[in-house]
Amino acid sequence: MKTLIFASHNKNKAIEIRALLPKGLELKTLNDINLEEEIPETGTTLEENALLKAQFIYRNFGEACFADDTGLEVKALDGQPGVFSARYAGLQKSSEDNMTKLLNELKSKENRKARFRTVIAYINKKGEEFLFDGTVEGIIAKEKMGEKGFGYDPIFIPEDGHLSFAQMTADQKNEISHRARSLRRFLDFLDSQKS
Ligand code: IMP
Repeated sequence: MKTLIFASHNKNKAIEIRALLPKGLELKTLNDINLEEEIPETGTTLEENALLKAQFIYRNFGEACFADDTGLEVKALDGQPGVFSARYAGLQKSSEDNMTKLLNELKSKENRKARFRTVIAYINKKGEEFLFDGTVEGIIAKEKMGEKGFGYDPIFIPEDGHLSFAQMTADQKNEISHRARSLRRFLDFLDSQKS
């Protein structure tokens, strides 16, 4: 069994990722390795933040590891909240607050186009770094819809559909999501590295 450390405490992300892993590959989150510390996300791009998180784990454990960073890029807001998606309504605010702020910002805007983008940073056992990204285009709903998922899922409707991510099953979201797309690229890469 090959083990990869996922530099995150986010249980929802881990569930999504585990559902896509091939047999023989085991994921350990920071909860699984008892690391309670939050890794600072001080970068100005998704790439930088994903790398910062993976580098922190590699520095401390010397093991192959990866991290993801995700942003919701809204066209009418020039790509905001983007890398600041987690703190959009303020540092101590919840996903509910972030969504409420975004819905308010878009009240007077016609264009509701947006996309989710995930960047995965992978560091192998030798310390070499690799980046993989994945996006999904869509629109921001007029109100919150659905109870599943996490983060901004209730207000994001992927293109060509009418359901928000929070109204989809885990499998439906994983079929098309930004995270699943970046993860498939990453897994294809790992597969190509097998000797
Ligand atoms: P981070 O990648 O954990 O920094 O996430 C940034 C922000 O985007 C946080 O507010 C997350 O809740 C949100 N987010 C990350 N991934 C998703 C997703 O798959 N759906 C909805 N929101 C997400």
